[in-house]
Amino acid sequence: MTEAGTAEAPTPDAPIVELRDVTRSFPGPPEVQALKSINLTVSAGEYVTIVGPSGSGKSTMLNLLGLLDRPSVGEYYLNGQLTTQLDENERAAVRATTIGFVFQAFHLMPHRTVLDNVLMPMLYSGVPRAEREDRAHDALRRVGLSHRLDFQPGTLSGGERQRVAVARAVVSTPRLLLADEPTGNLDQTTSGEVMELFEELNADGLTLVIITHDDAIAKRAPRTIRISDGRLSEVA
Ligand code: ADP
Ligand code: MG
Repeated sequence: MTEAGTAEAPTPDAPIVELRDVTRSFPGPPEVQALKSINLTVSAGEYVTIVGPSGSGKSTMLNLLGLLDRPSVGEYYLNGQLTTQLDENERAAVRATTIGFVFQAFHLMPHRTVLDNVLMPMLYSGVPRAEREDRAHDALRRVGLSHRLDFQPGTLSGGERQRVAVARAVVSTPRLLLADEPTGNLDQTTSGEVMELFEELNADGLTLVIITHDDAIAKRAPRTIRISDGRLSEVA
């Protein structure tokens, strides 16, 4: 696939994420400023948690970082590339090659097998079928689910479903993994297992941004950012 946004090519040494004075407001009435003039830099290989209460702007933040939404004001550089001027097709292409997502509610296709779910992001990637199968098997081995290839998500435990979602998120070798409350539907033990899996992926070089309302989860990361009423502060 060709690089989208030819105006400004990705720079290898640039931070993965750079938000400059980003505001996201939702028109009302009443107008809500979900993010207020935010600055954030995340370097390659970092493991960052963003913690804050319900309604503080966490999902808005993740949607912006994931190119699922655009700032109302300000700039977002991803891999050194200014994304705010890309059109929807270019944004989709950058998203597909650069970013993996994990959500609280797993978002798996219920009537497809585990293997099909993990193959899905590569369907239109131009990767030959045999190679796609190899990569999907590798990703599922990575999350410890090689014995569940032909199962449907409904027959799996919550923790297993989230591991399928993690395999799907990493199968296209993204540079950045974004997770929105990835342990929100899991018990404490299973949450710990899923976090350990994320941390293994980070140890292998994947940049990790995990959003949570749970302080215990947030504290696991070397860097934590608190979000409160749409504003960010670094936790020492
Ligand atoms: P969190 O994920 O931390 O619970 P959100 O980012 O979902 O918070 O929401 C932050 C604020 O922005 C809330 O006040 C919410 O009501 C508002 N908000 C989020 N999305 C929209 C939207 N599409 N339209 C209007 N207001 C929104
Ligand atoms: Mg949320």
